[in-house]
Amino acid sequence: MELKNIIFILFFLVSILFFIWSCRNLVHYMLVAKKKDNRFDKIGERLKRVWVIAFAQTKLLRDPKAGILHLIIFWGFILFLFAVIEAIIQGFYSPFTLSFTGMLYSATTFIQDIFSVLVIASCLYALYRRFILHIPRLEVDKTGKLDATFILVMIILVCVFMLGENISLVARQNFILGEYEVRPVSQYFAGILYSSPGGANSFYEFFWWAHIVVIFGFLNYLPYSKHLHVLTSVPNTFFANLEEKRTLKPINLEDETLEAYGAADIEQLSWKQILDGYSCTECGRCTDSCPAATVGKSLSPRKIIVDIRRRTKDKAPLLVNGVTSGEVFEKTLVHDYISDMELWECTTCMACVQECPVMIEHVDSIVDMRRNLVLTESQFHPNLSNVFKSLETNFTPWAFNHADRANWAEGLGIKTMAEDSNCEVLFWVGCAGSYDDRYKKVSRAFSTLMQKADVNFRILGFEEKCNGDTARRLGNEYIAQMLIQENIGTLNRYGVKKIVTSCPHCFHSLNNEYKQFGGNYEVKHHTQFINELIDEGRIKLKDESAGTKATYHDSCYLGRYNDVYDPPRELLNNINGFDLVEMERNRSKGFCCGAGGGRMFLEDEEGGKINVERTKEALGTGADTIASACPFCMTMLNDGVKHLEKSGEVSVKDIAEIVLENLSIEV
Ligand code: SF4
Ligand code: SF4
Repeated sequence: MELKNIIFILFFLVSILFFIWSCRNLVHYMLVAKKKDNRFDKIGERLKRVWVIAFAQTKLLRDPKAGILHLIIFWGFILFLFAVIEAIIQGFYSPFTLSFTGMLYSATTFIQDIFSVLVIASCLYALYRRFILHIPRLEVDKTGKLDATFILVMIILVCVFMLGENISLVARQNFILGEYEVRPVSQYFAGILYSSPGGANSFYEFFWWAHIVVIFGFLNYLPYSKHLHVLTSVPNTFFANLEEKRTLKPINLEDETLEAYGAADIEQLSWKQILDGYSCTECGRCTDSCPAATVGKSLSPRKIIVDIRRRTKDKAPLLVNGVTSGEVFEKTLVHDYISDMELWECTTCMACVQECPVMIEHVDSIVDMRRNLVLTESQFHPNLSNVFKSLETNFTPWAFNHADRANWAEGLGIKTMAEDSNCEVLFWVGCAGSYDDRYKKVSRAFSTLMQKADVNFRILGFEEKCNGDTARRLGNEYIAQMLIQENIGTLNRYGVKKIVTSCPHCFHSLNNEYKQFGGNYEVKHHTQFINELIDEGRIKLKDESAGTKATYHDSCYLGRYNDVYDPPRELLNNINGFDLVEMERNRSKGFCCGAGGGRMFLEDEEGGKINVERTKEALGTGADTIASACPFCMTMLNDGVKHLEKSGEVSVKDIAEIVLENLSIEV
């Protein structure tokens, strides 16, 4: 054994042991979070997700330029692992090569050579995008910039040293490649940089050591840096929520061991939420797509996740070492790191979760912190006191009389379940459809459509109560569960199997969240249902041309939450002469109207108005009709049109109304 091998073995052992110790600490910090969260089920499905999201990088490729750049760097590093393994084994036994793997060695040496150049070019381009092009979402503070530069420079160094090692290797082999070696780039540069094999020996040793030192230095730097995501993003993707329909997890209100509801600090989060913090790359995709951040409010989903990481770093090491008092303990995650204002500004639109390349679940953390504000601290906006009170007494967020819930249906001859429960489908009207003057017209239009199609439907009348979504997203799990359970009691008493609703919030709750409490129903949104009626020939659209230019606004709870993008568009496209133009932000990239997550009941206290931003985008298409499929969106867009003084020129209509206007009298 040479002196080189002895020095390497010592260096290797110290590096690996220190790395294991650092990782062990990170795991201990995660376990400070006590909220239960089992993410060890459905391993096969999780592995498939890792392949699609982490290795095929499908989410990153939603932004093709940055996505391709990242794909090259990511796969470059995976392929460099062969070179790293070879270099490490050479540390123990210098003459070692992986050439015994035959053609595999040819493939890996070739790919390493090509990728080292591609990765260097990608990193230089990434620096160019950040410092010369100043891509807005990459704009961070000075420390963030330094960190980003540091990691890109480290990656460049790894590639340069590896390439230098290979170039010198080829030169010292008398410019002849070893068995199965394919290194076109190294061979080319060896011919240019070296005149004789002898001169390459010391350079080879230098580059070999530089490569090894940078690799192990980088590895040990990661657990202490913001680039921890290099280690945790794949596990975070593995442990990500498997549910396609994004539901909130219920609180077990019967659990007497719970000392507080929601999360005020990291101990009340789950280990997965801490792992989210570790995994944030600070790429800014979430904040870039966040409607609140876009219009200049304080909320930035990136900051929320980075704050969870900051708080974990500040507090968890103390807790792990048994310290329970001091300056750090005078603060909490909520209030001192994340302001109440930030939490209340979220519309729960899911754009952040949709865009995050490492599957971070921002909305769950935000709602957990809201739950703490509402249920534990009773700290919320006075407007919300009225909303909660109304939900408890009138079973609707507005101060309307519960007995008037079915007044919208007067004169339409619609039976309630109490009168006759023998029906094809239950029309779940929702609070806006029952009380809001504008949306009552939509309830009537949709009912008329169903009557024309001879659908044998019923309503619950005053037996229907708010679906619970508003209370739940506002953090009031107590009222939400009360409403959900009462509604399930009513639905199950009538043996309801099939429900149709014109409200995406009701649709999402009834379809996906009622299951958590024993309510299992087949639920359709009215755009899906009307499509079926047309397909079955139960209603028919006019042949005459409508001559309308319209744009469709995707409701977040219909689109991102439930992947219902096509049925509303199919309906509009089927209307003769209906010119449907898309807004730039559409489908899964759709921009929220600003009303979700209970924001419908809160005033804007800072920044611009989300609904005005969206309405401007809709008006920019030149459409004379903005089609919507959600009562909240309709209200927000109508307000936007009024705000922009376009009421006389542009109308906001629900899809049911548009279909009714274009219905043929013959069937
Ligand atoms: S859910 Fe929407 S509003 Fe809330 S943080 Fe995410 S992007 Fe912003
Ligand atoms: S939370 Fe996700 S999308 Fe947002 S900055 Fe972090 S990694 Fe990027």
